[in-house]
Amino acid sequence: MTTTAGAPALFTRDDYAARMRRALGDARAAGLDGLVVTPGPDLVWLTGYRPTAATERLTALVLTADREPTLLVPTLERPDAAAAAGVAAASLVDWRDGADPYAAASALLRPDGRYAVSDDAWALHLLALQAALPGSGFHAMTARLPMLRAVKDADELARLEAAARGADAVYEQIVDVRFAGRRESEVAADLADLLRGSGHERVDFTVVGSGPNGADPHHEAGERVIEPGDCVVLDFGGLMHGYGSDTTRTVCVGEPTDELREVHEVVRRAQEAGVAAVRPGVACQEVDRAARRVIVEAGYGERFVHRTGHGIGVTTHEPPYMIEGEERPMVPGMCFSVEPGIYLPGRFGVRIEDIVTVTEDGGRRLNTTARDLRTVR
Ligand code: ZN
Ligand code: ZN
Ligand code: ZN
Repeated sequence: MTTTAGAPALFTRDDYAARMRRALGDARAAGLDGLVVTPGPDLVWLTGYRPTAATERLTALVLTADREPTLLVPTLERPDAAAAAGVAAASLVDWRDGADPYAAASALLRPDGRYAVSDDAWALHLLALQAALPGSGFHAMTARLPMLRAVKDADELARLEAAARGADAVYEQIVDVRFAGRRESEVAADLADLLRGSGHERVDFTVVGSGPNGADPHHEAGERVIEPGDCVVLDFGGLMHGYGSDTTRTVCVGEPTDELREVHEVVRRAQEAGVAAVRPGVACQEVDRAARRVIVEAGYGERFVHRTGHGIGVTTHEPPYMIEGEERPMVPGMCFSVEPGIYLPGRFGVRIEDIVTVTEDGGRRLNTTARDLRTVR
């Protein structure tokens, strides 16, 4: 790590080199010959290189036991790639328009090898690689190496904590704005401005689900005018210093009804139970079970329509998933959301979400704003 005033220390060539070694070690342990990493979160995590966009021109980091890490890039993007700290830990090979990038990639791979490929590799590139190497096998990264980025080191955790603090500051400010009489999209725009103001460089989502729209868990924000008495789900986050934030609170415009108070209290207790189930060595599915049990026992089981949580890191949705069937254990350093909800179609929804990290003693919330039902104007 090297330190820069005002911002977290930057990851160095050595940090990235260590990640590349760990990735290759994990791949070998999973019976694979290596990894083929295309632009997206895996490449950012392994090299710090975030091309402006994944494109029809092949960019791929190849990690195998037989050779040094090698990043294949289009010639015109070489200067940008070379500027990324982690790329210094790899040899850089460029290809010019008109050349065959798949032949160049094949030369780095075994004709009968088995490789993990980034989930978000374009079909265009993967199909061409398969055609160039018909004897080799390619496997989805998170299917074979699901926990590759799941356990955060101290520097990554510090960034996730900073992002959570930023998001918490946004919540404390949004509860002071006017809701009644304004469109969801206007409150969403306030959330986006506040996220940028808190230090986020990227806003990923600003959910404002008022009244019946709150019953749609992934409703973003629309033109509905918020009314007095509405329950409003606020779920927002983005990237700060390269790491994600994601928090949800549900507020009420004016006095809540008894029914809303009751539903909110069930969700609050479910979220509490989910966080209390976090413990190293315990299966991830136990977090989902603990939260779900509270909601089922309150009679709302059919209305909790999604898993309880997802990992967070250089993206806002990644393994580990807190879902029935995920039997892999929690490990200190993992960071994920605990976000149960109850959705009553046509009426309203309630969700409460915090990012939690696994410590030796249990779960620790990174989001710390009050989880009671707040009243807004
Ligand atoms: Zn989501
Ligand atoms: Zn969320
Ligand atoms: Zn989430």
